Amino acid sequence: MTTSRKIEPLPQDDDAIRKALKDAHLPSLLPALAQITGDLSLLRNDLMPDTALLTDPQGGLPPEKQTEAQELAFKTLAAWRDAGSVVADIPTHSEVRRMMDYLIGEHVSDEYLPLLLEELAFADIDARAPQWHKETINPGRSLRVVIIGAGMSGILAAHRLNQAGIPFTVIEKNEDVGGTWFENTYPGARVDSSNHAYSYSFAQKFDWPYHHSPQEVLLEYFRNCATDFGIRENILFNTEVLAATYDEARCIWKVSVRNANGREEKIEAEAIISAVGQLNRPKMPDIEGLSSFKGPSFHSAQWDHEIDFKGKAVGIIGTGSSASQFIPHLAEAAREVQIFQRTPNWYAPAPNYHERVADGFLWLLKHVPTYAQWYRFWLFWAISDGFLPMVEVDNSWKPGDAVTGKGNRQLRELLEASMRKQLATRPDLIEKALPDFPPASKRIVVDNGTWPNTLLKEHVHLITESIEQITPRGVRTEGNNEHPLDILVFGTGFQASKFLTPMKVTGINGVDMHEQWDGDARAYLGITMPNFPNFFFMYGPNTNIVVNGSIVYFSECEAQYILECLRFLLDSGTQAIDCRAEVHDAYNERIDAGNLKRAWGVSSVPSWYKSDSGRVAQNWPFTLLEYWQQTKQIDPDDYILT
Ligand code: NAP
Repeated sequence: MTTSRKIEPLPQDDDAIRKALKDAHLPSLLPALAQITGDLSLLRNDLMPDTALLTDPQGGLPPEKQTEAQELAFKTLAAWRDAGSVVADIPTHSEVRRMMDYLIGEHVSDEYLPLLLEELAFADIDARAPQWHKETINPGRSLRVVIIGAGMSGILAAHRLNQAGIPFTVIEKNEDVGGTWFENTYPGARVDSSNHAYSYSFAQKFDWPYHHSPQEVLLEYFRNCATDFGIRENILFNTEVLAATYDEARCIWKVSVRNANGREEKIEAEAIISAVGQLNRPKMPDIEGLSSFKGPSFHSAQWDHEIDFKGKAVGIIGTGSSASQFIPHLAEAAREVQIFQRTPNWYAPAPNYHERVADGFLWLLKHVPTYAQWYRFWLFWAISDGFLPMVEVDNSWKPGDAVTGKGNRQLRELLEASMRKQLATRPDLIEKALPDFPPASKRIVVDNGTWPNTLLKEHVHLITESIEQITPRGVRTEGNNEHPLDILVFGTGFQASKFLTPMKVTGINGVDMHEQWDGDARAYLGITMPNFPNFFFMYGPNTNIVVNGSIVYFSECEAQYILECLRFLLDSGTQAIDCRAEVHDAYNERIDAGNLKRAWGVSSVPSWYKSDSGRVAQNWPFTLLEYWQQTKQIDPDDYILT
């Protein structure tokens, strides 16, 4: 089972331990050792990571301290093994907090502690699992749920419903689970957060082969999860939801689907969970002559693996996260690469982006109990709420400024220095590739130097003149410049702000979901909206995070809240809950105000974070903690109860 964390006994061979320790992530190893031995004196002040250098692979420990920590770890592990490898009792909360304080170099506040304990999932305790079962609350009540989509969120929702004994059917348009990881098979596709963190808290896996695993590894993880959770037989594959209509008289959703045979069917359910993702409908650009190109052309999410790029002139429209991953691969094979860039990107340096997990590190994860959890905790914290000041908008900010405030200036200096250094030999490229807008105005692309190295290749051309037309032979840019091409690839992103497109969803009094949104999707907590009783979103409006946290964490919070809503229905005998308009509106006012204090909210550069009206429809502007607190339980007063 891929999601298991079976620990293997430490061998008698001391050299094997010493060898592995050379690859250890020491800041998270010492709390693990303190935990298994129960000896908190291992958390020595002089070996404490530096808070300011959390993202440094060794937390800023100087080399001599690293050697000392390795020696301490060796002696501790050898003695623990020789004494029978008995894991100490589960630590008390105050002991765990002491370990956390050590690891992050500051005192964990009372409010963060319960959240972090959940994330750590010690002793494989799945604290977010429903601690109740339909059979014991209301066995006679019909509560069927349709989940739309079997990607990361849909698998999670299905698992939670399964645990709670609530009958459910998952409708999946593809032939297998995985969502974005099933569809995006372009060369170079990989996760840009560390996958030790980008995975379910209750299904952690220590043997990831890479720090940022390629698409096929992520897909295998989600496939295995679906199998291990026992939800596969509830999934209707190759089946697409066309419409959903609420029958007020019966408090029932009627879901129209097109099944694998192409026939339309209706499925009834008391509740719907939409888990369709935000980045699942490819967006083709609105450029004149789009379909006139005579050579092969396709979108990155619909990669044509039959095409051989060897010796060909290839054009790419778009330079976002997807294009930045596949262009370096095309540049390996193609004779000529023309990159059409409309807006430059900021690139965040991630030296281990393509690195395999070192053998010794993997060995320690396998042999030292709790080490994997502490490493995940480290990653969780390192990319957590501490990043928010870097994207804050100061009161002095005005449109056109290159930074939004003090923290943002520091971020800019870091990213700019890195880009200038990597492109130092080509001032012309610096001119074209260095953004003049504040970092985090749009998605920061993760990179390990591959992108600038690609741009520096002689046969790669970065074209910044705007595109006038796509022609049968290539692309014409302003000034009547023709760029002849054999193949044209669109890395033009997704229809992110058009939530649930192209489904037709009809709620109370025949109101159409898209008409109610009027091009600007909103929801309460990103999960419910007025006039659509018992309809829940996962990864809905304003639940995307930009710099802090992993999207899996958000989905786990959403699943927790939705399950609480369903429990409320069972417990109270309420047929349906419908979000109160005033609660929804007040919430969204706060979200909008919050986003206007973030770089992505005030900047005018194009990004998939915004709807056509310019409102930020995707992003959550506050802390991870706040979302966790708000989604912990349902307040019935937020809803009209039927
Ligand atoms: P994207 O970030 O929306 O990038 C689309 C690109 O196409 C942009 O460079 C955009 O330019 C350009 N474009 C769109 N329409 C255009 C037009 N009419 N003319 C010229 N250029 C045009 O899409 P993406 O790269 O697919 O990434 C989307 C998101 O998916 C990412 O931000 C990330 O959250 C996720 N993703 C994650 C990973 C990962 O985890 N490894 C990998 C890929 C994607 P403008 O900037 O001017 O709009």
